[in-house]
Amino acid sequence: MKNIWHVITLIPEYRGRLVVIIAASSMLGIVGTAIPYLFKGIVDTVIRLSAHKLTFAQAQSTLAILILTFGGLRIATIIFNYFLEGQSDALWLNTVSSLRQRVFDNMATLSLDYYERTRVGDVMDRYGAITSITMWLFQLSEGTLASILQLFFGICVLLVKAPTIGLIMLVLIPYNLVSSFRTVTKTKPLRRRWHQVMGKMAGLLSEMISQIATVRSFAGERVVKRQFEKAQSEWWDIRTVEMGTELRDGARLNLVNTIGVIASIAIVSLEALEGKYTAGDILLVLTLTQNLISAIQPITRLVNNTGDIETSAERLVDLLKMVPSVIDTPGAMTLSKIESIEFRKVSFSYPGAELPSLEAISFRLAAGEMLALVGPSGSGKSTLIKLLMRLYDPDQGQILVNDTDIKGYTQDSLRSLMGIVLQDVALFNDTIGENIAFAKPEASPEDVEAAARSAHADAFIRNFPDQYKTRVGERGIKLSGGEKQRVAIARALLRSPQLVILDEATSALDSESERFVQDGLERLMRNRTAIVIAHRFSTIAKADKILVMQKGRIIETGDHGTLVGNREGLYARLYNLQVELQGPSAA
Ligand code: ADP
Repeated sequence: MKNIWHVITLIPEYRGRLVVIIAASSMLGIVGTAIPYLFKGIVDTVIRLSAHKLTFAQAQSTLAILILTFGGLRIATIIFNYFLEGQSDALWLNTVSSLRQRVFDNMATLSLDYYERTRVGDVMDRYGAITSITMWLFQLSEGTLASILQLFFGICVLLVKAPTIGLIMLVLIPYNLVSSFRTVTKTKPLRRRWHQVMGKMAGLLSEMISQIATVRSFAGERVVKRQFEKAQSEWWDIRTVEMGTELRDGARLNLVNTIGVIASIAIVSLEALEGKYTAGDILLVLTLTQNLISAIQPITRLVNNTGDIETSAERLVDLLKMVPSVIDTPGAMTLSKIESIEFRKVSFSYPGAELPSLEAISFRLAAGEMLALVGPSGSGKSTLIKLLMRLYDPDQGQILVNDTDIKGYTQDSLRSLMGIVLQDVALFNDTIGENIAFAKPEASPEDVEAAARSAHADAFIRNFPDQYKTRVGERGIKLSGGEKQRVAIARALLRSPQLVILDEATSALDSESERFVQDGLERLMRNRTAIVIAHRFSTIAKADKILVMQKGRIIETGDHGTLVGNREGLYARLYNLQVELQGPSAA
């Protein structure tokens, strides 16, 4: 229950609402117990009249009082129910919306390492748990709590009126709860497992959707279907065992309850024969017994679900407790201008990786300069950029901007000065206009269009019937590679960044697209500090400084002229190879 309680305490104003819910439920519990009393009164009055123990007028006035009380109690029930349902609805709305928002907000702040070791499906399953937890809370607050209280009051009355039956109920009800709880405990590991499998299935679905082009091009439908079927059959097996256990335990419990009811009815009947009860008492005791037995079922069902809900709540709370590994230090400053960037003996390994991805990286870049990162794939170029953006913190060494460690600046202010165009451009499934404006939400449509014009994107955007309102599809699937790049350049331009970070595309675009993209990129870099993961010597040669990287280390550094001059160096060898293959024009 620890995690369920934790979830409840996250709900705004939960205390006030709980007070109203408990008060209204208690009143409903009392009214629910009082009504059988009125029935007893009516039966007894009629019987006493026929036994001539009451005059007709007395009977009439007693019945009138009883009926009026009944009416009053029914109206009170309507009022209490009104409050109860109103508060339960509010509680539900509050819980659902505040939990969703909290999950989303927390996910938005988590650092990249979390996402790299987590499956989307698992997060989606945890997020989906909000629905089951809140429905459970809703059921509890809207009706089950009143039933629990009715159970309590009913037993009190029975203990006074028919102690033997009261005692039977006193044994039966805890037995029900304990037995349900035992079933829940027994099945808990199974529930944990099937939740994980559900997460896996959701992950497979989302991966298939995001990778649909790859799946299709490798005719991989059979492979992904088989993976899903395997997870599904695992889920099926676990669920079958779980449901079988619940079914058997439930049937055993029903049998015990039925024996309890039969015994109670037999006892009341026998005691009534001995003249211990009036007819009204018999009605009262039988109605209460029946009410109690029917109230138990929804309660045990709720108890049964408690296990499931606690598991879901635990998974949800775990998700909410995740804290970003990269955080703003207290008193972090706002960075407003980049004057220099320096790496001082920076080393870094990805969590869980055996080998470092960067080792003792040192360089310095002044404002307005262009730095090119060159090296084979896997040499650490993207990692260097991720560290500069503070997506990760270095294990050793320091990254300084204006001679101050970047940990001393707020992450927002640091990143807001950067404009990034990656090779694999990711777009939101939104309109082109919104995708560009993402860099600067307050930008006017004119600013967005001006940025698009500069990036040579305006013309192709205007060719779409919906122009800037054209939706780009999941990850921008409806745009070509060159178009996506130009949208990304427009997005970066809109920000007027002080530092431009580029990952030059390795895949060839058609030559017209290529020209537009190159020109867009040059405009973006003009008069700005730039760090480029470069593949073309035509780009690299323009850099003020080149870092040649291999296996996470800088093996050569200098400008193009110096590096080409070092005939033994990797750079010169790569350069000469390209010249040989493509002719000097490529270089
Ligand atoms: P480059 O950009 O030069 O191709 P990266 O910086 O992407 O190289 O990668 C450097 C090294 O770090 C590689 O060995 C790569 O396998 C590893 N690496 C990259 N990203 C991760 C990650 N998220 N988790 C673990 N290892 C990673």
